[in-house]
Amino acid sequence: MIAEVIVDIASGETDRVFDYLCDDGLTVGARVLAPFGGRTLTGFIIRLKDTAAYPIEKLKKVAPAPDELPALTPECVELSGKIAKRYLVPRALALRLFLPAEMRTGKVRELTRRYATLAVDKEQWNFSKTAKNQIAAAEYLLENGKTDCALLNKLFSGSVAALQKKGYITITEEQVRRDPYKTIEETGAVKALTAAQKNAVQAVKTDERTVQLIHGVTGSGKTEIYLTLIADCLKAGKSSIFLVPEISLTPQMLAQLRARFGKNAAILHSGLSAGERFDEWWRLRTGEAKIAIGARSAVFAPLEKLGVIIMDEEHDSSYASETAPRYNTFDIALLRAKRNGCKLVLGSATPSVETYKRALEGEFGLIKLAERINKRPLPEIRIVDMRREVRRGNNSAFSFALKEELEQTLLGGNQAILFLNRRGYSQTVICKECGYVAKCEACDVSLTYHREEDCLKCHYCGAKYNMLSGCPDCGSKKLSYAGTGTQRIVSDLKKLYPQARILRMDNDTTSGKEGHYKILKEFGEKKADILVGTQMIAKGHDFPSVTLVGILDADMSLHFNDYRSGERTFQLITQVAGRSGRAEEQGKVVLQTFSPENDVLRFACEYDYEGFYKNEVSLRQAAMFPPFSKIVRVLISGEDNKKALETLKSVYFALEELYRENEEQFLFFNKMAAPIKRIENKHRYQVLMRIVGGELLPKIYDICAGERTRETLVSVEENPANLS
Ligand code: ADP
Ligand code: ZN
Ligand code: ZN
Repeated sequence: MIAEVIVDIASGETDRVFDYLCDDGLTVGARVLAPFGGRTLTGFIIRLKDTAAYPIEKLKKVAPAPDELPALTPECVELSGKIAKRYLVPRALALRLFLPAEMRTGKVRELTRRYATLAVDKEQWNFSKTAKNQIAAAEYLLENGKTDCALLNKLFSGSVAALQKKGYITITEEQVRRDPYKTIEETGAVKALTAAQKNAVQAVKTDERTVQLIHGVTGSGKTEIYLTLIADCLKAGKSSIFLVPEISLTPQMLAQLRARFGKNAAILHSGLSAGERFDEWWRLRTGEAKIAIGARSAVFAPLEKLGVIIMDEEHDSSYASETAPRYNTFDIALLRAKRNGCKLVLGSATPSVETYKRALEGEFGLIKLAERINKRPLPEIRIVDMRREVRRGNNSAFSFALKEELEQTLLGGNQAILFLNRRGYSQTVICKECGYVAKCEACDVSLTYHREEDCLKCHYCGAKYNMLSGCPDCGSKKLSYAGTGTQRIVSDLKKLYPQARILRMDNDTTSGKEGHYKILKEFGEKKADILVGTQMIAKGHDFPSVTLVGILDADMSLHFNDYRSGERTFQLITQVAGRSGRAEEQGKVVLQTFSPENDVLRFACEYDYEGFYKNEVSLRQAAMFPPFSKIVRVLISGEDNKKALETLKSVYFALEELYRENEEQFLFFNKMAAPIKRIENKHRYQVLMRIVGGELLPKIYDICAGERTRETLVSVEENPANLS
């Protein structure tokens, strides 16, 4: 047999198929060990055939890797080809998306456990009288059958070795899977669906369109709809993928899923240990688990016979990958849904403008849930003009209105969430005399001051720097730490309310998979009165005692340099407000802003998605922004600055020709350094375009595919979520 093999080197140079000999019995998708230029590399079989382009005697032979099953399903092999083409990455890099990183490093071993079985009948036992432990252990085995050696040793103080030596027992090794969420309690009973929920489930199942958008206000019970769809698939022997945004992969959600689906659910999550991730992945691959839950990368779950793919909070920007291949989760999910003939369900209280437009135009099914469960009212949002506060001499982060509401909440024994909008906002160190800003040496972004460790950190690469004692440029001691961070808010709150118990949740307090969980759990158990946090607390959480949400700086994201700032702000406010008043008591929201007359804020306060959408669409149309045009960014990056610039030039000239010939289809065309000039020592340049009509896009891809070199990566992004 001849196998076409992709070797696992992600460079342009080796980005082709190599022919090898292989034994019969190997299949497409199998992982193999391939001799390659004097080394042995991991490879994957992507096709089998009878004849090779080279004389057979010149071909080397691959050996199978010791896997239970071919690592990749035929669907994954096929999809990786499409991804490589679409995102201009080497096939090997596309294949890696489908595999747990641990499989490549080879550092994780399958976890095995030793078991003892009695090998000698009782009649033939011949113990000395003093071997009391051995006798007891043998009796135990007689009664209980095969037993974990560790348990046996524990019960009968180390008798396994002695029994084994005598030949009284046989030892077998068996593979066990690690359990990542041992400590999570299972909560949540199955609820009888409301009429609206039943209709939604029915609509998803019967409508023939592949993509179904559930537009339901916060608290309308979307989760229960997803769970019902997943349960129905499971009953029909089908598998499901349940995608949630990175930061809302809450242990609460996991607990609910565990209660509902037990071991049928597997979690693919960056917070797991390497071993756990490896085992969860294999449980999906073997079909032991049929439900994959995770952030965007779970869209690559090695499941067969998909019955449904769900994308909760479809508008969330974490669904766009920001490393090569820079894929959109929706695109991959759609490819998989079509290939499997299953539905792709999008859910959101604030769908992205683009998605909603496609639904209104009939391309996607549109299902509306206009009311919260039990008709609970949405919390009232009160706008506070912070300019007036400043005029009244209040320079603190808390308006008088917010303080009043906080007091009421604390008095009433309820809980409050204070939300700090961190987008485009950081505690940068600036010299007040010369304007120097502390930046990361490798990434060229400003550093953030961390009070607890008294150091500066780069949020892009994680580098840590000592806090400055003076300005390195002019020597001045007048350094200002601009912006208010969560830590500062917490220390101010402590002064205002010494009795209140305060929790803080942001990137710094939630390292490790359980850091997140612990904070939310404590807050959920009412061990704290106030939770202060960033974007992380905006989504998905359901705390019945929260009756007040304070949005401290609502306009921080309004003035961000991005055509989607209005949309992002509307989404954020709706999400955060949705945390308030989810149970019996009416919830309140205090929204602090320096621009109270802003349209986006007004629509958000009235929960008027339609109004927001109409307004936004007309603004986008007037300015010819997406969805009325397409922003295309070609990103060129490489460690060697000269080479990267050469590629930039070459890409630019080729594209410029296209631009000259089709000027009427271009709204914008220019080359420049990327806003972040370096990330992890890679220099970054871009050609930015705004085009109308879809004709040019394939040509742009073709041009860029031809420009990729060994040293520089060229990628094409359509409407990138983040232009940094
Ligand atoms: P969404 O995801 O739309 O924001 P959730 O799924 O979190 O809403 O549901 C909001 C609340 O309503 C949750 O507390 C949930 O347990 C509850 N809930 C959902 N469906 C039902 C139902 N059919 N009967 C009773 N309570 C429900
Ligand atoms: Zn200075
Ligand atoms: Zn850095």
